[in-house]
Amino acid sequence: MIDYHLHTARCGHASGSPEEYLQAAAARGLREVGFADHFPLGLLGYTPRKKVTMEPEEWPEYTAQVRALAASAGPVAVKLGVEVDYLPGRGPLLAKLLRGCPVDYVIGSVHFIEEWDFSHPAQVHEYRKRDLAAVYDAYFGLVWEVCAGGFCDILGHVDVIKKFGFRLPEKEMEPYWRRTAALLAETGVCLELNTAGLDAPVGECYPGGRLLELCAAAGVPVTLGSDAHAPDQVGRHFPEAVECLRRAGFREISRFTQRRRIPVPL
Ligand code: ZN
Ligand code: FE
Ligand code: FE
Ligand code: ZN
Repeated sequence: MIDYHLHTARCGHASGSPEEYLQAAAARGLREVGFADHFPLGLLGYTPRKKVTMEPEEWPEYTAQVRALAASAGPVAVKLGVEVDYLPGRGPLLAKLLRGCPVDYVIGSVHFIEEWDFSHPAQVHEYRKRDLAAVYDAYFGLVWEVCAGGFCDILGHVDVIKKFGFRLPEKEMEPYWRRTAALLAETGVCLELNTAGLDAPVGECYPGGRLLELCAAAGVPVTLGSDAHAPDQVGRHFPEAVECLRRAGFREISRFTQRRRIPVPL
């Protein structure tokens, strides 16, 4: 199996070195992993209230370190990925910064609604101050910008807005699921099944079963990631995740090399 969403201590809110993540991956019997640490927001001209990404000067070190690991013949293949925190209007700048950079894939993720870092535990109180339907609407509007933005290969943790258990009824979610599946099918952006949600208050993968079903039916490709922020989280809950993918109708999972997608049987 593959785990395409590993962080490292560089982002400031994870622990462990790349080597420690690789050891954990080998111990779990993974074939391939991809590091997808947070792209430096400083390079996009944004400084959030709390540091959540590596610093601009660390970006070349990060890519060199992961590429060196990829070149060394260990038991686990290594890919160079990156997770980009989406900021409206910065898509073209990001595309320019990534041009000529040897990344295997780019995960586009929404972490901010304007200045609100809504998946940060210290900012949960904000959910109670806002109208939840408006929060979901703003959130999915950003998700759809990521899908259509043309800068990413994979859409990260698509419904992470549910992380702390603030959810809309399934019936109200249906239009969001449908539009997301249709946009992914249209743009060719790959969906990520992210198992971190199983360890969050919501207790469910990102996304849950309904969007997986719609995406499988629409022929949207899928990949798998643990969003590990510590070595012991590598490959977490993967047997359960693979079961979810099969139940939803997926028969393939996607790997990436130099931003080319390679489907392999699930
Ligand atoms: Zn993170
Ligand atoms: Fe993220
Ligand atoms: Fe992540
Ligand atoms: Zn993430």
